[in-house]
Amino acid sequence: MMMPRLVPRWPAWLFCWRAACIQGASVRQKMWAGPSKIPGLGGPRGAWGTSPLVPRGSCSASSRTPEVTLTPERYPVRRLPFSVVSEDDLAALERVVPGRVITDPEELEPPNVDWLRTVRGSSKVLLRPRTTQEVAHILRYCHERNLAVNPQGGNTGMVGGSTPVFDEIILSTALMNQVLSFHDVSGVLVCQAGCVLEALSQYVEERGFIMPLDLGAKGSCHIGGNVATNAGGLRVLRYGSLRGTVLGLEVDNTGYDLKQLFIGSEGTLGVITAVSILCPPKPSTVNVAFLGCPGFAEVLQTFRTCRAMLGEILSAFEFMDAECMKLVRLHLGLSCPVQESPFYVLIETAGSGPGHDAEKLGCFLEQVLDSGLVTDGTLGSDERRIKMLWALRERITEALSRDGYVYKYDLSLPLDRLYDLVGDLRARLGPSAKHVVGYGHLGDGNLHLNVTSEAFSTSLLGALEPYVYEWTAGQRGSVSAEHGLGFKKKDVLGYSKPPEALQLMRQLKALLDPKGILNPYKMLPTHA
Ligand SMILES: Cc1cc2nc3c(=O)[nH]c(=O)nc-3n(C[C@H](O)[C@H](O)[C@H](O)COP(=O)(O)OP(=O)(O)OC[C@H]3O[C@@H](n4cnc5c(N)ncnc54)[C@H](O)[C@@H]3O)c2cc1C
Repeated sequence: MMMPRLVPRWPAWLFCWRAACIQGASVRQKMWAGPSKIPGLGGPRGAWGTSPLVPRGSCSASSRTPEVTLTPERYPVRRLPFSVVSEDDLAALERVVPGRVITDPEELEPPNVDWLRTVRGSSKVLLRPRTTQEVAHILRYCHERNLAVNPQGGNTGMVGGSTPVFDEIILSTALMNQVLSFHDVSGVLVCQAGCVLEALSQYVEERGFIMPLDLGAKGSCHIGGNVATNAGGLRVLRYGSLRGTVLGLEVDNTGYDLKQLFIGSEGTLGVITAVSILCPPKPSTVNVAFLGCPGFAEVLQTFRTCRAMLGEILSAFEFMDAECMKLVRLHLGLSCPVQESPFYVLIETAGSGPGHDAEKLGCFLEQVLDSGLVTDGTLGSDERRIKMLWALRERITEALSRDGYVYKYDLSLPLDRLYDLVGDLRARLGPSAKHVVGYGHLGDGNLHLNVTSEAFSTSLLGALEPYVYEWTAGQRGSVSAEHGLGFKKKDVLGYSKPPEALQLMRQLKALLDPKGILNPYKMLPTHA
């Protein structure tokens, strides 16, 4: 395939990105007047009553931070010839974001370490802009001075994309947390990129809507980070991916759909400063069934039956294996609500007629129990019980992180082969792994394969990679289903994409960020 030679012309700072809504011009003008707070709404995270994840990464200072090995000491990576931040730079940046240039080493510890505590940078500066204009000034300055920048949202990313590798300046969206507008007929929400997902959920739920995405990190992750990683999560089965629910750039109603380029670009092409997103109406009836299955074949058959019998009310179908259940019990003290089984599935329905949904769900449960696909199950329809059942699935990531060092693989695989790799790895790794677990969003063909060990081990890593990637490529699967590539997975992109596609990605990067200052060392493979 012939690739056009792209001439680097536009500096990165031009691409401070705001998604726009599809409303008429007058509404749009109002929406984009600025990030002023809607009276009585918005505000810092605490004011929204959100529940951040267990403090890790940027969530709070941690006394364990020094234990994490510096990224360049663990991985073969060389610092690129960016400038080093000088006293003059600090003074100039202080003029752009007065009082919000953080240089205190203690405050800088958490944002230098990822949530999984697997990578650690050594940034000496963190900036906290409040407005798009401030972000633009920062990027313009960094472009001129050749200073590398690491955009950071809630720092819950799983692939080492959110933390600096060396001394990149951390640009945090934490103070960009205002709702700009909400349209209570269309469900279009416009907000700054640093709004915490759970805060937004609460905001739109009070108005009869829900966010189209939901994930275990909702108490800490930012909507800008979600868009930057094209996060999947628990509602993809029903509402689709962010590529469908994030609305267009204001200048983007005709011609190429440029916003798609920024969704999933992981901070390597521009900084997302605001997002416009379509929220579906809040379902009036929600039910959750938590079921035990005797084998993975039965999990798959339950999924098929479920889709056929529940149809339009099915909103989530998640699975986890017995090892996951063991870990959430062991590390989080949660209890299994059904009899012990090799596999568990969580099915959520969301609809508008309680009688109608209950009847459908009842018929489905009767069918799967009678046919032996399911051996035991429990139902939840009130909020407290629904949350309790969801916690078993949502908190697996947290339980794993307490089990030791975690080797994480986020794969897309054909459904009938989805779980084979887990058993295969248990046999291959033997006692060198503490736990090998599989869980995920079955509805999207997404397997979260996780291996734990007491501490990082080069030999265990060698047994896992490239084996896992070759196995996945052999099934024509994807090596990164929803977590992105960040720093840790960038060199395996070639297993899922042809060289021509990688070359085109490099050319796009060079066009939008000619000096390569935006999130360097991330997403694109090191070698051409
Ligand atoms: C318990 C737990 C459960 C999770 N479950 C899921 C899940 O179900 N599905 C899923 O997809 N992910 C999941 N994740 C991963 C993570 O939460 C998502 O990737 C999330 O979207 C990251 O958002 P963030 O604000 O924390 O971004 P960060 O971690 O801060 O950043 C992630 C990447 O986006 C870039 N970035 C952040 N903000 C911006 C911005 N404004 N502009 C440009 N680039 C930016 C960063 O540079 C980095 O490359 C989970 C994580 C945890 C800890």
